[in-house]
Amino acid sequence: MSVAVAVRPVNDGPKEIRSIVSDAIDPIVRKIDREGHYPEGALRELGEAGAFSRHAVQSPSTGLPAAVADMATISEVCMSTGFCTWCQDALVWYLASSENTGLRKRLLDRVAGGEQLGGTGLSNPMKSFSGIEKLALRGEKVSGGYQVSGRLPWVSNIGPNNIFAAIFELSDGRRVMSVVNANASGVKLSHSSEFIALEGTGTYTVLLKDTFIPNDEVISEDVAEFIPKIRQGFVLLQFGMGLGLARGVANNMVKQVATARNAQWLPLTPNMILDRVSELEATAVQLAVSSGDTSRGAFLDVLRARLKVAELAMSAAQSGALQAGASGYMIGSESNRRQREALFMGILTPSVKHITTELARG
Ligand SMILES: Cc1cc2nc3c(=O)[nH]c(=O)nc-3n(C[C@H](O)[C@H](O)[C@H](O)COP(=O)(O)OP(=O)(O)OC[C@H]3O[C@@H](n4cnc5c(N)ncnc54)[C@H](O)[C@@H]3O)c2cc1C
Repeated sequence: MSVAVAVRPVNDGPKEIRSIVSDAIDPIVRKIDREGHYPEGALRELGEAGAFSRHAVQSPSTGLPAAVADMATISEVCMSTGFCTWCQDALVWYLASSENTGLRKRLLDRVAGGEQLGGTGLSNPMKSFSGIEKLALRGEKVSGGYQVSGRLPWVSNIGPNNIFAAIFELSDGRRVMSVVNANASGVKLSHSSEFIALEGTGTYTVLLKDTFIPNDEVISEDVAEFIPKIRQGFVLLQFGMGLGLARGVANNMVKQVATARNAQWLPLTPNMILDRVSELEATAVQLAVSSGDTSRGAFLDVLRARLKVAELAMSAAQSGALQAGASGYMIGSESNRRQREALFMGILTPSVKHITTELARG
């Protein structure tokens, strides 16, 4: 097959976000990937430009797709920063959905504007709702709040001054969701293992020992009711990471072919990747309209599409690597970085095996 293929123009995304990506993220992508550099400055700029506030200030049906679009623009160049964006976006989503008006007033704008950075320790609770794991944090009611202990193996987009959302279980079985300050007494962050990618995401193991959570940091006193309201948005937002990565790979393949002699397209061509990205973007828009539907059927629809996003990201990255050939087999090559990043879409909660387990249950 020859290379005479009309290549579609690249979706440019919001201008301000795109220029932060090219000025503040693109130049440090290798540092993020190879040295585990956490791009705090770029994240704050993205926050100021509105990247984390689309779904906080607009209705979910328009806000979620806008947040996905910004995350895709970021992930097109760096999925590590795209994942930090998701962590921040997920926290915004919980705060915006919280009935604790005091907490919302105090934190939502600061988190949505990137002034306060933070993440979410909800993988374990999401797996526990699927019966895959036991809930890791235990709490007890004390005067003015709760005392919480336990260990979360990974929480990203945090650091000593950041915050994260967590869920703990009381002795009567009730589950409570709250914000935790990483610098609160009894909270310890440690970083012992090295990941194959995503090292620059500020990911730590978090240990809580008798940590006091005041009532005014509680996001929801009734997690059983709260989770069905936020779980679709939690998963839908992740589309931005996978779709952006796939688009970035396609763009890179086009650039490489333009300079290669006798280049041949592979079975999965850049235009096919871009077409699938567009289809799944349209699916995300449709699913966002029904993101308030708390039924299991609606959630399974989102999981089905999320599986397709993970598969597209991983197959696009593989196609990019096959096209790059030996130049992509070098440590530090772009196509290898994209493959390592893409695999994260398959293991991030809900992981491929988590989704397939849920879909098999029906
Ligand atoms: C770099 C990095 C950053 C992360 N950041 C965060 C974060 O910010 N917040 C957070 O909460 N989490 C975070 N995580 C965790 C992440 O979201 C996932 O929960 C984790 O990667 C999933 O791995 P797992 O193997 O534990 O679980 P899963 O892959 O989800 O598997 C769960 C379980 O499914 C069962 N299972 C189902 N089907 C099969 C099958 N076919 N074969 C075998 N077992 C099956 C097994 O019991 C397995 O233990 C991070 C992880 C990494 C690597």
